[in-house]
Amino acid sequence: MAGKTVKTEAIVLRSIRYGEADRILHCYSKTRGRFGAIAKGARKPKSRFGGRLEPFFRLDLMLHEGRSDLMTVTSATTVEGYPRLRSSGPALTAGARACDAVLRLLDAAEPNPPAYNLLCRYLALLDDPSEPRAADLTTALSFRLKLALVAGFAPELASCAHCGESDHLVGFSGAAGGVVCASCEAGSFPLDEEAHRFMVEALAQPLSEAPAAEQRALRQVERAIGETLEHHAHVQLRAAA
Ligand SMILES: [Zn+2]
Repeated sequence: MAGKTVKTEAIVLRSIRYGEADRILHCYSKTRGRFGAIAKGARKPKSRFGGRLEPFFRLDLMLHEGRSDLMTVTSATTVEGYPRLRSSGPALTAGARACDAVLRLLDAAEPNPPAYNLLCRYLALLDDPSEPRAADLTTALSFRLKLALVAGFAPELASCAHCGESDHLVGFSGAAGGVVCASCEAGSFPLDEEAHRFMVEALAQPLSEAPAAEQRALRQVERAIGETLEHHAHVQLRAAA
């Protein structure tokens, strides 16, 4: 067989049934970024892949890279299976939304180690029984903000994204890419101080220490991230919760 062998560690973002017994995987790799692969015979009862070609699995993969856009999986061993994540409804939903956000935002075949590590950390938190807040909206939004940051689309939070003014920051503008002052608020939506503070603190603190905030502020945060990514990354995310 012409082509070359590729070895990489990756997380399965999406796994689709294909043909009679195959699977097509969308993966995010530590060393290659996004890639697609086909696992032939993966749905046969005695497949050597077992049940590990499913979303959230963190795997060591051996792949064959030929002329097709899809590589072929030749072997897969589990690095992390996150079994507790799989047994909790809210954690599954949060994990699925995180993988979907990575799929939409990081679609290039180039490595982004901070993005890879961020996704691993979030899945590990969702899998940790001593982290009951991991599946909450606060942690989901903290993940989204950090993901926007590592993808190069963090909103401007320190001063007006339009004129640079650092006081009277009353709104948020996705087009301007950040908070805006009272004189530049045209085209923005009102942003409570609490929502502004949440974003600043969430970006500064570890994922496991997402700040608390009221629903109203959290909805504003979700809208601020969503509109920033729509305008600047041309990506639409699904609802965070
Ligand atoms: Zn301004």
